Amino acid sequence: MPAKRYSLPFPRRNLDRRAVSIVRRLQDRGFESYLVGGCVRDLLLGSQPKDFDIATAARPQQVRRLFHRSRLIGRRFRIVHVHQGRDFFEVATFRAAPPPSEDDDVQIIQRDNVYGTAREDANRRDFRVNGLFLDPVVGAIVDWVGGMDDIQAGVLHSIGDPMVRFAEDPVRILRLVKFMRRLGLEPGEKEIRAAKEHAPLLAQSAPARLAEEMFRLLATGQAAGVWEDLQALAVVDWVMPELVPWLDQQANHADILGRRFQALDWQLEAGWETDYAYTLAVVFGPRVEQEFHPQTRRLAVSEFPQIAAAVLTEFQQRARIPRHAVVAANRILTAQLRLDPPPFLQKAGKPRWNFKHMASQPWFPMALRYLELRLHAEGRPLDLAQDWRQKALSFAPEGR
Ligand code: ATP
Ligand code: MG
Repeated sequence: MPAKRYSLPFPRRNLDRRAVSIVRRLQDRGFESYLVGGCVRDLLLGSQPKDFDIATAARPQQVRRLFHRSRLIGRRFRIVHVHQGRDFFEVATFRAAPPPSEDDDVQIIQRDNVYGTAREDANRRDFRVNGLFLDPVVGAIVDWVGGMDDIQAGVLHSIGDPMVRFAEDPVRILRLVKFMRRLGLEPGEKEIRAAKEHAPLLAQSAPARLAEEMFRLLATGQAAGVWEDLQALAVVDWVMPELVPWLDQQANHADILGRRFQALDWQLEAGWETDYAYTLAVVFGPRVEQEFHPQTRRLAVSEFPQIAAAVLTEFQQRARIPRHAVVAANRILTAQLRLDPPPFLQKAGKPRWNFKHMASQPWFPMALRYLELRLHAEGRPLDLAQDWRQKALSFAPEGR
């Protein structure tokens, strides 16, 4: 596709001044350079970009020499972090899609380190809305991929055939979900079909990368919608294999989890934040609670943290998330037995853990939040959480 050029549809002051000065400096030295990717997309859609990334014809060493405060990052593909004040900006050299693999069976991209032209760099990106280049010096958008049409139409298409692009890198399927939910863009039919067909390839992507994208997705404030999408695209089996036997056990398990995600969205909407440990507790809580149930075995309260540890560790070892997140998630889940003992514990004996001690633990606010999330998800009044909060406050030393 030949490049289409558009003048900026928004004022230039919306651009980050420091990023613009980096681009200008590179251009002054004769290196073609642009703002690229998510920041261009977000500005066009009227939202505030998280970060301003720069792509340039200059090689990493040349960039390094131009900027006093800069560092080379990455082993395989080198980018440069250019520091400005307390922030840094990512400057990457244009690269092309890697040449097709000799072995036709290996469709997944293994190597990703071939330098190229600006146009090639636009074409190797995932979605058309993500492939726009912005020249902040002349004030123009350069579009090699049809991204402006998609932005205007509010649609999400991959660059090139999604069957090919999702096979190359199945993580793009999760990125599809992220962008359709977060940006409210309508995915194309081909994209939906390709996502469903290639979902099993997610099994070949690095689990750590998948987990990273999953946790980000669930922290968008749209976890309930994301959960619907993951089920509709049939990717749950591949991104959350640890949940599959539990989900298959009973038809309502997916809904139970869906309501927890709704409650999580409600908390995030209210301005609260989640982290690895908390999201982990939200995702695996229902399965742990169900495994700790009189129908499955005789109960001792001390078994609960063991069950939780087994479930969480299974995931942690595959996804290589930090161990401390598992420990904290376990604390959050186990504390529920004391804060809100399940009715079936009446006979077996409720835990008698000292509440004052519990309330002084660093994870306690999270445990209380989680209680609130469960109450909300189960349609119960939130008073119980309020009462505990009051009680905890009465222990807090003066002035805290
Ligand atoms: P976010 O706002 O969530 O950061 P983003 O679009 O900036 O969204 P990044 O992961 O920061 O996403 O990636 C920056 C850019 O790199 C993307 O806009 C896209 O052009 C390109 N990109 C990222 N991941 C892929 C991928 N898996 N395949 C192809 N291009 C990608
Ligand atoms: Mg980004």
